[in-house]
Amino acid sequence: MKRVSIVIPCFNESEVIDTTVAELISVTQGIKNYEFELIFVNDGSSDDTEKKLLAHSKRYNNVRTISFSRNFGHQQAVSAGLDVSTGDAVVLIDADLQDPPKVIAEMIIKWEEGFDVVYGTRASREGESWFKLLTAKSFYRILNYLSEVKIPLDTGDFRLMDRQVVDHLIAMPEKSRFIRGMVSWIGFNQTAISYKRSARFAGESKYPLAKMLKFGIDGILSFSVKPLKLSIMMGFACSGVAMLMLLYSVYIRLMTDHWETGWTSILVSILFMGGVQLISIGILGEYVARIYNESKQRPLYIIKQQREVDVQETDSITK
Ligand code: UDP
Ligand code: MG
Repeated sequence: MKRVSIVIPCFNESEVIDTTVAELISVTQGIKNYEFELIFVNDGSSDDTEKKLLAHSKRYNNVRTISFSRNFGHQQAVSAGLDVSTGDAVVLIDADLQDPPKVIAEMIIKWEEGFDVVYGTRASREGESWFKLLTAKSFYRILNYLSEVKIPLDTGDFRLMDRQVVDHLIAMPEKSRFIRGMVSWIGFNQTAISYKRSARFAGESKYPLAKMLKFGIDGILSFSVKPLKLSIMMGFACSGVAMLMLLYSVYIRLMTDHWETGWTSILVSILFMGGVQLISIGILGEYVARIYNESKQRPLYIIKQQREVDVQETDSITK
């Protein structure tokens, strides 16, 4: 029997976790002829998410819980789940039921048709602020414009991946992980399933603005060196303007008699040049910081406690 692993990153999801486990168990029980393994990664929650997860692991043979020593972040949690997964395919899904577990059945059908990656594209999103909708929509478009790899629009991490894709993903050593982009980079046969993204079942988003920004910048800088080229373009543009100013000043000096004026233009060009230089150094700095982080070779995450349950030996409840 083919086995499908489902990886669920959880950070302070106490309010939703029981419902999520129940929903996933019931959905997977409804899919016949497959064996399911649920891997919950507790990303350093400070509420009782971990306690609840461990109780579920005790109750269901095919529910595994991994706990980090602190909060490492969503992408790290997903990576840890992938690292320990044993399925012939792995599904990534959020803990807050925004990605409907029912779609997993459709993903498996597509997988059986021969697709190696089946990703969920959000046809619509409920219960999000206009700010989140606008920033998310623009982010995916800017990212696509800048990135050398084509990354599908309006697509999160909700997806099914074949074992061979997962193995390649695990083998990629980079530390700043933008998983949806890395999967696009890996290639193979990929296809989309469109779904309606619901509102969060309960609790607050665990992606406040600062985290979202960091995630977005990570995505762009990990998949594009165009911002560096942009600073060269800005340099050329500024030099062009400076050239014109030079000609203009010479003309004023030689041909007219009011050449001592010009304080404003000097001030404006100094400020403008200063700004452009700082931006360029900043962009450069972001890339250097990434090189620095990669060169430290630190592990992606640290696991505090692990409940290992062998799905093969025990009689799986969801079979
Ligand atoms: N998450 C995580 N670590 C974090 C932040 C989020 O594991 O540091 C998990 C969270 O529990 C959820 C998923 O990542 O399962 C997506 O987070 P959330 O729903 O808060 O993001 P949003 O849907 O608002 O973008
Ligand atoms: Mg969510």
